[in-house]
Amino acid sequence: MWFSKSSKEVLKELDVNPATGLSNQEAQKRLEKYGENKLKAKPKKSLLSLFLAQLNDMLIYVLLAAAVITLVIGEYVDAIIIILVVLINAFVGLIQESKAEKAIEALQQMTTPRTLVKRDGEIKEINSEHVVPGDIVVIDAGRFIPADIRLVESVNLQIEESALTGESVPTDKDSNTIFEDPKTPIGDRSNMLFMSTLSTYGRGEGVVVGTGMETEMGSIAKALDEDVDEMTPLQRRLDELGKVLGFICIGICAVIFIVALIQGRELFDMFLTAISLAVAAIPEGLAAIVAIVLSIGVTKMSKINAIVRKLPAVETLGSVNVICSDKTGTLTQNKMTVVKHYVMNHLKDVPAEGAGFKGSDDENELIKSFVLCSDATYENGQGTGDPTEVALIVLGNRHNMTKNDLNQKYKRVGEKPFDSDRKLMSTLNEEGNGYRVHTKGAIDNILQIATHALVDGQVVPLTEELKQQYLQITLEMSNDALRVLGAAYKDVDSIIDADEMENGLTVIGLVGMIDPPRLEVKDSIAEAKMAGIRSIMITGDHKNTAVAIARQLGIADSIEQSLTGAEIDQMSDDEFAQKINNYRVFARVSPEHKVKIVKAFKSHGNIVSMTGDGVNDAPSLKNADIGVAMGITGTDVSKGASDMILTDDNFSTIVHAVEEGRNIYNNIKKAVIFLLSCNLGEVICIFLAILLNWPIPLIATQLLWINLVTDSLPALALGMDPGDKDVMKEKPRDPKESFFANGAGFRAILGGTLIGLLTLGAFYFGLVEHGHYIGEVNMPEEAITYARTMAFVVLAVSQLFYSLTMRNSKKSIFQVGFMTNKLLIGAIIAGIFLQFIVISVPFLADAFGVQMLTLFDWGVVLVFSLIPFLVNEAVKGFMRLKDK
Ligand code: ATP
Repeated sequence: MWFSKSSKEVLKELDVNPATGLSNQEAQKRLEKYGENKLKAKPKKSLLSLFLAQLNDMLIYVLLAAAVITLVIGEYVDAIIIILVVLINAFVGLIQESKAEKAIEALQQMTTPRTLVKRDGEIKEINSEHVVPGDIVVIDAGRFIPADIRLVESVNLQIEESALTGESVPTDKDSNTIFEDPKTPIGDRSNMLFMSTLSTYGRGEGVVVGTGMETEMGSIAKALDEDVDEMTPLQRRLDELGKVLGFICIGICAVIFIVALIQGRELFDMFLTAISLAVAAIPEGLAAIVAIVLSIGVTKMSKINAIVRKLPAVETLGSVNVICSDKTGTLTQNKMTVVKHYVMNHLKDVPAEGAGFKGSDDENELIKSFVLCSDATYENGQGTGDPTEVALIVLGNRHNMTKNDLNQKYKRVGEKPFDSDRKLMSTLNEEGNGYRVHTKGAIDNILQIATHALVDGQVVPLTEELKQQYLQITLEMSNDALRVLGAAYKDVDSIIDADEMENGLTVIGLVGMIDPPRLEVKDSIAEAKMAGIRSIMITGDHKNTAVAIARQLGIADSIEQSLTGAEIDQMSDDEFAQKINNYRVFARVSPEHKVKIVKAFKSHGNIVSMTGDGVNDAPSLKNADIGVAMGITGTDVSKGASDMILTDDNFSTIVHAVEEGRNIYNNIKKAVIFLLSCNLGEVICIFLAILLNWPIPLIATQLLWINLVTDSLPALALGMDPGDKDVMKEKPRDPKESFFANGAGFRAILGGTLIGLLTLGAFYFGLVEHGHYIGEVNMPEEAITYARTMAFVVLAVSQLFYSLTMRNSKKSIFQVGFMTNKLLIGAIIAGIFLQFIVISVPFLADAFGVQMLTLFDWGVVLVFSLIPFLVNEAVKGFMRLKDK
């Protein structure tokens, strides 16, 4: 039992030196021996079972049964075609589905947590799956615990173990405890950390004692079995729509069959036609095409640094009209540089470069406190850790007060880590014969807990007048967009607890640091504005600093548009919600204010995106419609709570993602509306022919073929249509808006009706052209075959052409650019070519009951086929005129 042993014993048993960790070689060996650190997943479905799943559909059964009957009555060719179509359809479905799945899997891979381990004496971040027993793991707040770990060292470490114990209140951990009782319950083993739990506070180091299935989590190992409902709201809606339309189709097919029987048509032919029409027309693939377009879309988004974790987010993105963003690192570069420091009565500029400055005694105290109270490092021009602290270490270096020297001289013996609620951090270091607390943080918060001030080497009571002087300097620096950080200290005789550190302090002074805005953000904010999206800044920083930067970026114009956390607290929730639209900047806020802000914006029906990185940001990320976590600086906790992760932490990426989200939604719409108009065309054509007592214009195998050729490829190509560059000139889409709004339903009906009528028209033309007429008794078979060939080509080619005009609901195809979707052009050419092959290669023509057309008739069918395309272009042109 690892928890019954001392950490020394455990380290010895696992044969690792806690200072250097395992060597890379040894780690590799152990990885081979113990395997990857992951829970066993459910075995993957075989390709065959996936293929069979594609065939698992009532209609397909009926069709296969029909094929068997065709075989029995000796229509071998028809039977073979039906079976081939079914198989090819299933095969295409399989490929598409597995592609979609792979894309999603690849995305999940990108977001698997990483772990800080010591290897060969260096701390590095590795994929959590490569953690091995004996690894020394470094834990800080917000990290997932990658494996079962025996703590070796801990400072105020708190772990939330609800994944394992169900208890959501974090438990305190302590490396020094040992539990003799082997029956100590998991929840009480405070010297152990368990896989899949997460650290919420403090830091620690420990040695991995179990990985993969050899962990407490592994022994329960149900986590991965949970089946999640992966359909997005749109997919679900379309799936339902598909079912309703499916039933209508079946109804129509039944009517067709019954009417045909009454008319005394060939029973089996009509049965086959009705079934084939059902197969061709029932839009069973709606949800599937959405899944494919979504997966292609999210893959594309991952390339522009936005990783979508939850698919529904893609749809929601298109509706976002408020983007709330953290300031530091997202709107700004997070490259901090101290440019000013202040001790009472002495304000100094820090020159841009150089070292070896000599400060006054007060100034040296200031810098010493800042450096000692920092966890960051800066070596060989390279900083690690919080950029705010790196800037302080750099300041120290320039005054010849390096972190290494100071740390050796004034050893750290205690600390109270930074958190964004207190906005403070403190350490306890040795000082002479006693100890000294060094505190740094938001200057207003320091002034609240300080009682004295250091003035020219003297500690004097902190009077109101002195406070005002510090605040005045703070104000001046903030108005220049500087981030202001104060430092204070107090001397104590003995080691004290973290809770006793932050009171009765002596203020030393403050520094101002610049953090330039990201260059591209200003344009993105302007673009968002044009797209009907408000950008909101949320920051823990000082109000004036925030507003100064917000002004530079075009987020706000005046200080009246800003509110602080304290001011929010003074309002009731109702009052805050009422007034929220007046504000663009929220400063000095803590994570719980972010939840309030999200809720207030949402109460006006806004669709809100919110960024976050810290442990405490999880609630606001979950509350937002789109929770956005930072890929670089974000904690595992915030990533776990998010819908989307920015791999570059950049505000502009959110705006790009919204643009992509809008394009993806539009593409889904195009593909679906196109599919529906094709299906409608087929139904109208056959239905009318039956009602009018015409010969059947298309036989079963022809319908199946067209369904295969025209439905899949062009629909897919439409789903991958390049984005419309003007998509950000439109207002966000109302999430409640019907899928058929803005003329989409009209386009489907218009296209479907025209395609259906023209197919019938072509059939009629083909008959009449050769001197025949509808209702002729003993019409020769060749005449019907010829007319069917005309219908066959028009139905397919008019659908292919119609796909072109579907690319944009407003712009003409010339404005969109004929050749900008090469895939679609390819699909159209391939489709026409295939039709040509089928009617001109004799054995195929025989099989499908078609024949070669004359050149003149090719001209006729092409003109017929162009009509739906031209009519829709004309309608769009008319709408554009009207809009003007
Ligand atoms: P944003 O929320 O936009 O990222 P922020 O980085 O300023 O803004 P926090 O990190 O919560 O937000 O910091 C809030 C305040 O806490 C800062 O303005 C600063 O005064 C103080 N602060 C920031 N980092 C530290 C630190 N490492 N130690 C002590 N105080 C800090």
